[in-house]
Amino acid sequence: MTDRLAIGAADVLLVVDVQNDFCPGGGLAVPRGHEVAPIISRLAERFQNVVLTQDWHPPGHHSFASTHPGRQPFEALVLAYGAQVLWPDHCLQETTGAEFHADLRIPHAAAVIRKGFRPLIDSYSAFYENDGATPTGLVGYLRERGLTRVFVTGLAFDFCVRYSAEDACREGFSVIVVEDACRGIDIEGSVAATRRSLAAKGAVCIASDAIA
Ligand SMILES: [Zn+2]
Repeated sequence: MTDRLAIGAADVLLVVDVQNDFCPGGGLAVPRGHEVAPIISRLAERFQNVVLTQDWHPPGHHSFASTHPGRQPFEALVLAYGAQVLWPDHCLQETTGAEFHADLRIPHAAAVIRKGFRPLIDSYSAFYENDGATPTGLVGYLRERGLTRVFVTGLAFDFCVRYSAEDACREGFSVIVVEDACRGIDIEGSVAATRRSLAAKGAVCIASDAIA
């Protein structure tokens, strides 16, 4: 192939939530979620700039079904800031489940954005909490460092990867989702809906072998 994407100083690899609880055996396992860890670790060797996100919830977080009596995981509920899927307990602060998967090895990653630590609001996106308004600071971090193109990888494709990629588009970054470096949960067609939505918002989906 002659037109593979070359990675440069203005590119950043965003690694979303590659944590034990999102892998098989974890509290909110994404099918085959663990498979992305070695793929992303290899991919990261091409990037000077890498940012990780880490889902990081206090006990009794509002996104947990167990916080709402009579509710079951994967039910939708309307909270103060809008619709919210209720999840099994996952990624509790300072637990093994919240740690990065052991096969994720990116020693040169420069920043970890923690999200979901406010008790009453969930955060799918690396950029904004689920109210769509409270920033994590990642937009400013990328801009200040002159990073303009964001490659998005991780878990889960149809939730935190999707919302991170879409917010990056909204903020004017060039956005590429490396789809074989992601795995989805797929609730009621959410993977197909994600592909449609990403395309509509201007994010490009590629395979990792398209990167030089
Ligand atoms: Zn979470």
